[in-house]
Amino acid sequence: MINDQLTMTKTKSKQELLDKIKAKIIADKVCPELATGATQLVFSDGSADAEIVFIGEAPGKNEDEQGLPFVGAAGKFLDELLAGIGLNRQDVYITNIVKYRPPDNRDPYPDEKAEFLPYLKAQLEVIRPRLVVLLGRHSMECFLPGLQISKVHGQPKRLHSWVYLPIYHPAAALYNGGMRQMLIDDFARIPLILAQITEAPRESLEIAEPQPLDSARGRSVVAKKTSQPKAAQRTIFDNLA
Ligand code: URA
Repeated sequence: MINDQLTMTKTKSKQELLDKIKAKIIADKVCPELATGATQLVFSDGSADAEIVFIGEAPGKNEDEQGLPFVGAAGKFLDELLAGIGLNRQDVYITNIVKYRPPDNRDPYPDEKAEFLPYLKAQLEVIRPRLVVLLGRHSMECFLPGLQISKVHGQPKRLHSWVYLPIYHPAAALYNGGMRQMLIDDFARIPLILAQITEAPRESLEIAEPQPLDSARGRSVVAKKTSQPKAAQRTIFDNLA
């Protein structure tokens, strides 16, 4: 829908369209409370023509200062993980669900994620990557609600023609050697997974219905109840691996 408003034409480059989405977040005054407390909008890093998009949660202190996602300690580890499979930041596209730093690095609220989601969807529809890597639980829940990251990390999931790879957030592995190795192992599967995905997504991206909101702040009141039963998950998702 945001893409319709941007009057996507074949003459516009992907980068121009992404620039418009960034400008629209500011023009639409998305999450004004977060915007007021942040130094700047942290939109993305990497290539508009990437075949892999990485989606994190929200900027932290370093990201807020530099205006780029994943440039702090977790970002350094992400760079190492990319280097381990022969890639660097300019080969991929990196963004977050929420694009302003939440105060004191708290988790983003459901209403904040819901407000930013249409813009993230617009970014993905412009790029149309072959693979979307979901970094951590928050990112996974936006696209694959009801799954548990401890059970599905490293397993590619196809939903319609979009392919997602949920993995642990690099920050979770910083002080945990076991999780660090798990991330290295999950990353090592990316080249093979990519090789199995023969085409970019054909369909428009579907994101789970936003959860019902309470009246006070629009916060989710039923986050847990919207989870789908496990049997249903298996019929919806097609495991590539
Ligand atoms: N964690 C995230 O989820 N995103 C960033 O940009 C940095 C840390």
